[in-house]
Amino acid sequence: MMTTVSAPRFQHFVRELTQVIDTFAGDEEAVLAAGRPLLNELVSNDDWLPAEFAQPHPQYYQQYLLHADPQDRFSVVSFVWGPGQKTPVHNHTVWALIGMMRGSERAEGFAASEPGRPMQLLGAEVLSPGDVDMVSPRLGDIHRVSNLYDDRVSISIHVYGGNIGRISRHVFDVDTGERKTFISGYSNEPKQPAA
Ligand code: FE
Repeated sequence: MMTTVSAPRFQHFVRELTQVIDTFAGDEEAVLAAGRPLLNELVSNDDWLPAEFAQPHPQYYQQYLLHADPQDRFSVVSFVWGPGQKTPVHNHTVWALIGMMRGSERAEGFAASEPGRPMQLLGAEVLSPGDVDMVSPRLGDIHRVSNLYDDRVSISIHVYGGNIGRISRHVFDVDTGERKTFISGYSNEPKQPAA
């Protein structure tokens, strides 16, 4: 799949971001610096995301693939939170930009721990519409994210420095630091075999 969203605002974003990646490929700091204002502009206008990619699930947060770079250099996902939903503690292994578009989410950063030791909470922040957060192995890659609200849907747009639904990464047990491998896949495709 390539791009699934035809709205000009989204097409413009993908074109501009592709140009950023073409220009700064491999220079994460430059990619994030140039990509951040593009994502801020995209999520500052909540009028382009088709309803099919904004659907919550009663039980699970949803990750809809909106665009996959043909060379797997980046992917764009709509992350749809049902009321009260949250991720496990997890990492990404690639850089990510997280732009809040509808509602709010809470992100808690963690440090990896020695085996058997609880993981240390590094800090928490709340994203409001228009805010853009960043994670990466260089900046801090382990977090847990939740819908700030128990009574409404929240949506953020994520850009990852790879085809995130295909990348083998980890979920963590916050009490023991134990990690397990997982591959997230995407909500708008048939389920991948369990990792
Ligand atoms: Fe994440």
